[in-house]
Amino acid sequence: MSNIEKLKTYLKTINNLEVINNTSDLKRLSRDFYDYSPILKEELKGCIADVVVRPKNIESICAVARKCWDLSIPITIRGGGTGNYGQCVPLLKGVVMHMNYFNKVEEFYPDTGFVKVQSGCLMSDVNKELAKNGRELRLLPSTWRTATIGGFISGGSGGIGSIRWGFLRDPGNLIGVEAINIDSNPQLLKFNAEESEPLNHAYGTNGIITSLILPTAVKRDWYSVVVNCDDLDKSVEILKLFSAAAINLKLGAILEKDIVEYMPKWFKGKNKSHKVVLQVSLGGIQTIDLICKKYDLELQNLGRDIDLEYGISDVVWNHTTLQMRAKDKNWTYLQMLLPLGDELKLIKTMRKKYGRNLLWHLEAVSQQGVPRLAALPVLKWSGESELTQIIDDCKLLGAIIFNPHTITVEGGGLGVIDADQVKAKIKYDPKGLLNPGKLEGWEKRNIYN
Ligand SMILES: Cc1cc2nc3c(=O)[nH]c(=O)nc-3n(C[C@H](O)[C@H](O)[C@H](O)COP(=O)(O)OP(=O)(O)OC[C@H]3O[C@@H](n4cnc5c(N)ncnc54)[C@H](O)[C@@H]3O)c2cc1C
Repeated sequence: MSNIEKLKTYLKTINNLEVINNTSDLKRLSRDFYDYSPILKEELKGCIADVVVRPKNIESICAVARKCWDLSIPITIRGGGTGNYGQCVPLLKGVVMHMNYFNKVEEFYPDTGFVKVQSGCLMSDVNKELAKNGRELRLLPSTWRTATIGGFISGGSGGIGSIRWGFLRDPGNLIGVEAINIDSNPQLLKFNAEESEPLNHAYGTNGIITSLILPTAVKRDWYSVVVNCDDLDKSVEILKLFSAAAINLKLGAILEKDIVEYMPKWFKGKNKSHKVVLQVSLGGIQTIDLICKKYDLELQNLGRDIDLEYGISDVVWNHTTLQMRAKDKNWTYLQMLLPLGDELKLIKTMRKKYGRNLLWHLEAVSQQGVPRLAALPVLKWSGESELTQIIDDCKLLGAIIFNPHTITVEGGGLGVIDADQVKAKIKYDPKGLLNPGKLEGWEKRNIYN
């Protein structure tokens, strides 16, 4: 009997565990949105789990982990499966562990505003619970309706809220985690903020996160506001002014007009111009208006988010790319932090070289307290060598690239190995069974051992 057959036989004996073996579910639960990248689409096809499990308690996770340790079978954790880099794709098959039953908000701490939540909880559900205490999550991906909080911390980077709260790995955005290790005696381990750092954005390669403690913000009524602007330079200038103003902002983005053409009707309207998009609290709208008047621009208040039929989150962050791809699958994208002060220089240089095959979508972010512009430009796919050339050109112009066309933690991040993440893997996953192939530093671990 093969090890996989032995495992499958054993899984039937574990209480509080759902086991999925049928081919269509195995395929569905082994993929994410990696097909945004033509490179990953090729690289990851055929990576399908041997079995999917859905644990309902800590004991059932430990039982699966122990058996996988005995039989040396990989485990890849899955939240909502909305990642873009094949983060939850089981490269070496084995078990996919789907965390959807870990969906409770466990505790709210009124003194600090912290919340303890199970990792498989959808962010939309976390926010519903938090609203009862007048709070909300600080950071959300544009996939917040279907993505889990554990998947966001393990595989995401930032998003709506980053204009104020920065990126997920910035100090203060993760207060603690509980996670299970994988060895001959898997256990629930508790990590404080400092100890949690290596598990943050590690693609589930160094622990099975069961719950997290996160900071929250005061819940506000957010209003979606759009400013139409014919001039891209001016759009960038006013977005910077909005970001620096003493107002509450949750989002600030620019979609250049060729991108706006691809957006849903309710958003693009009749005005063929670039759009500066904001989410702002009521008290900030008159300041936005004041800045607009100085530039002879008009703001359009779409209204309070909860009253809107369509959400502004459907056209920002990587949802911009989603909308483009809904109309033409040849669009793909890149992610970068633009050089401070030289954002337009980069855009104009790239425009000259690549024309309308590279369109610009900017997001205002705070990078360790400094207002910056990130970009998620969309590009018409014309092969890997042109992609490499675009990346090299942007780097030369001072951008920091977060490449969404690679499968490793390092490749999608700053491109450098984080020794603490590798050390945590050596400690909590000494056989390298968690999401194998995704942590480059593990492959080169002898340097850190
Ligand atoms: C249209 C679109 C828009 C997007 N917008 C954004 C955005 O604005 N910002 C952003 O950061 N991302 C964005 N993403 C990527 C993704 O949606 C988010 O990062 C999301 O939060 C991932 O959550 P998930 O539950 O789907 O995680 P999954 O895709 O299921 O998993 C992500 C990673 O986390 C690991 N993981 C999941 N749960 C656990 C756990 N309990 N323990 C350990 N590891 C775990 C998985 O193994 C995997 O490596 C976008 C994707 C799409 C398709």
